[in-house]
Amino acid sequence: MRKTLVVGNWKMNGSKAQTEALLSELLALGPWSSDVAVCPPLPYLAQVQALLQGSGVMWGGQDVSAHNGQGAYTGEVSATMLKDFGATYAIVGHSERRTYHAENDQLVAAKAKAALAQGIVPIVCVGETRAEREAGHTDAVVQRQLGAAIRSLGARIGEVVVAYEPVWAIGTGLTATPEQAQAVHARLRQQLLAATPAAAQMRILYGGSVKPDNAAQLFAQPDIDGGLIGGAALKASDFDAICRA
Ligand code: PEP
Repeated sequence: MRKTLVVGNWKMNGSKAQTEALLSELLALGPWSSDVAVCPPLPYLAQVQALLQGSGVMWGGQDVSAHNGQGAYTGEVSATMLKDFGATYAIVGHSERRTYHAENDQLVAAKAKAALAQGIVPIVCVGETRAEREAGHTDAVVQRQLGAAIRSLGARIGEVVVAYEPVWAIGTGLTATPEQAQAVHARLRQQLLAATPAAAQMRILYGGSVKPDNAAQLFAQPDIDGGLIGGAALKASDFDAICRA
């Protein structure tokens, strides 16, 4: 039995005051039967740690360096540093990182490996663009993206969380139908099962305009084990409703 996981990706949003307000409001609405985590912008990680410690809500980074420990990598933050602030998760390969920072499958796989090496669970994002879907390439694209992580991690792929996020659904208000998403999730699980029997227990999240009114239908699908939530994670009542879906 897989426990649902809902992760809020705050992206580049917030301030100290907003972080405090959002988390106080959210904590007043919990607890939830699903696992819940938030990924704030890094300057707020210590504040988030202080506010969430002992609450049962976890936290993580929106990205992590492929380089471990310390070193001359200006602008990078290592998994060791995320661990230092009590983080559980690091998102890797979000489509916004792939698009705006030219991150390729190999770099994403290296980031996942660096995270796991420090005990941070990578949330490995995969997803096709609208053009790729329309050309019938959805499976080829997501399987290529996931395949790079499988090759890099071997059987340890069983320790990651996968997030299927169709690029055309992120922040657009367009959502994959539960059937469209389930079809991709089922094939991703088949690909994972070929690498490790642990895949039966792995969580594959859906992301892309998940809202309180569509979350329950998506999460009811047999291979959808929760969500990676962008916009709706910035409003406590919406995020709470999704965590309950
Ligand atoms: C995301 O950023 O991972 C995401 C799914 O965003 P949104 O929910 O806003 O589409």
